[in-house]
Amino acid sequence: MIEQRNLAFPFQDPPAPGQVIEVAAGILWARLPLPYRLNHINIYFIDDGDGWAILDTGIGDDATRAAWEALVAGPLRGRRLTRLIVTHHHPDHIGLAGWLCEKFGLPLLTSQTSYLGCLNISLSPEAFGAKAYREFYQRHGLGAATTEIVSTLGHDYLKKVTALPLSFNRLVAGDSLNIGGRTFSVLTGDGHAPEQVMLYCVDEKLFLAADQVLARISPNVSVWAVEPEGDPLGLYLRSLRAIKATLSEDAMVLPGHQLPFKGLPIRIGELIDHHRARCAIIAEACRESPKSAADLLPVLFNRQLDPHQTSFAFSEILAHVNYMMRKDELAWAESKHGVRRMLTV
Ligand SMILES: [Zn+2]
Ligand SMILES: [Zn+2]
Repeated sequence: MIEQRNLAFPFQDPPAPGQVIEVAAGILWARLPLPYRLNHINIYFIDDGDGWAILDTGIGDDATRAAWEALVAGPLRGRRLTRLIVTHHHPDHIGLAGWLCEKFGLPLLTSQTSYLGCLNISLSPEAFGAKAYREFYQRHGLGAATTEIVSTLGHDYLKKVTALPLSFNRLVAGDSLNIGGRTFSVLTGDGHAPEQVMLYCVDEKLFLAADQVLARISPNVSVWAVEPEGDPLGLYLRSLRAIKATLSEDAMVLPGHQLPFKGLPIRIGELIDHHRARCAIIAEACRESPKSAADLLPVLFNRQLDPHQTSFAFSEILAHVNYMMRKDELAWAESKHGVRRMLTV
C-alpha cells in the first residue's frame, strides 16, 4: 500500500496488457491502450453469475480490438460475457460498444443521454462545423486553426466509435442494478459528460467512478457551442458534492483512468480547490483589463499548446467563465473587433 497526498493506492501497478487484476472478489480490472498522452483506459469485469458483465469498452481502433481478443482468449476464457455497461459517450468508453454487443450478443446498458449523445454525433457528424458554431468560437477570440479542429470533432469522433446497437437498456439515477447477486446503486453525474453513469456497491463500498473522480488529473469539463451558456463546471461541482455526501469515506474508487484509490473525500476536496484556484486566476486577470476567453489561454496554460490542446483548454476556460458569470463574479464588457471580452465584477 503506497500512501501519497493522503490518498491510498492499494495496487501499485496496473494490470499488464492482456492481464487482469482482481480488485475485489469477482471484480476484475483490465487496461486497454489509448493513442493519446493519457495512454490507457481502465475497464472492469463484474461477476454476473455464469459470466462477466463488462464496464466500458475502450476506443474503436484495431489496437483495442486486439487487446480485447487477448483478454477473451486469456484471463476471460471459459466464461461468457453477459452484458455491457457503458458509463458515458466519450470514445474511450463507448467506442467498441457496437462491436462488442454484436460480436458477443450483449445487451447494452447506459444512460439515455450517453446513448443519444453518441447517436446524435454519429447521425450528423458534420453538425460541428455549422456556421453558428464557428461564429461562437470566433466571438470568443479563437483562431482559425483551432476553430477548424472544433468544427471537425464530429468526424474525428466517428473514426473512434463503432455503430451503436439499435436498442439499449436505460440506466437511471436511483436505480438498483443487480449484477451476479451484488447490488449496485446507479448514480449519474454531469460536468465531464452529461448523465455519466457511476455504480456504487454500498455493502462492499466499491465505487465505479468512470471519469468523474480520477486520482491524479482533473477530468475535462468543457463548454461546447451547442450549449453556449451551459454551466458544466457548476454541474460538475454539484455532482462532486453529492458523491461526497452520499458515499462512504473509505470507499474504494475504481476509476476510468489511472490507479484505483481510497480517499474519496480528500480527492474531491482537491478537485474543488483546483477549480476554485482556476477561477481566482481568471478573476485576477480580468480585473486588470477586459479579456476574451482566448486571451486567458496563456494566463491559465503556461506551456505551448497545439491547436488540438488549445481547443480543449479553450473549452475548459469557457466552463470556468460561464460558471463565474452565473455567480456574478464576471460580467461582459465591450466587444473589440467582434470578440467578446469580460471584466471581473
Ligand atoms: Zn470521459
Ligand atoms: Zn475517459
